[in-house]
Amino acid sequence: MRIVLLGPPGCGKGTQSEKLQQDFSIPHISSGDLLREAVASKTQLGMKAKTYMDEGRLVPDALVLDLIKERVSSDECERGFLLDGFPRTVEQAEALDQVLEASEGGALDHVIAMEVPDEVVVERLGARRSCSGCGHIYNLRFNPPSVEGICDECGASLVLRDDDNEETIRARLAVYARETKPLIGFYSHTGVLRSVDGSGDADTVGKRISAAINGA
Ligand code: AMP
Repeated sequence: MRIVLLGPPGCGKGTQSEKLQQDFSIPHISSGDLLREAVASKTQLGMKAKTYMDEGRLVPDALVLDLIKERVSSDECERGFLLDGFPRTVEQAEALDQVLEASEGGALDHVIAMEVPDEVVVERLGARRSCSGCGHIYNLRFNPPSVEGICDECGASLVLRDDDNEETIRARLAVYARETKPLIGFYSHTGVLRSVDGSGDADTVGKRISAAINGA
């Protein structure tokens, strides 16, 4: 199963990915997570990417493409994958198509476009905290940890992402509208695109996504 999750920052892609990777036993590949790992390990790529990420801009395609191509073509993705945060531009989507054409696994099975209004995004991301250990995502209002600041899953501390401040969130939303939303047009001709309402709690949204994937 080859799935792409599309949607603005804060639409719930990360939260839904945790569930989908279990349901379909496929690896979850988040371009944002891969880039944050590169930044944390201070690799050359990470140091180049950091300025763009801090400003809420897209990291240049050339840097992201190598990272993703390598993963998608690896043995780990033989039976499929779930892409979260990639592709984010039409150029990235075309490059992904080329990689998939050259692979044995074939084209994408599902592109799920999650839709959430901007004001909901700003509210959600301000309250988002991620675990510094396992990456589990919390929302201080709707899904807080049992002990303040500590991950229920692994006990590591929770952190606010550097780019989850209102100014950068607004910049990321503008970038989404300009660069990533055109992908909905790109994929609408393929027959694999489904739009899903991303508002509401995680369980409700998860059910909508399952229904979209199962063709209900
Ligand atoms: P995310 O965790 O998906 O919200 O991504 C965080 C940041 O990483 C974005 O604001 C971009 O700066 C960068 N990024 C993640 N994925 C991509 C991508 N596919 N293309 C370019 N930049 C990306």
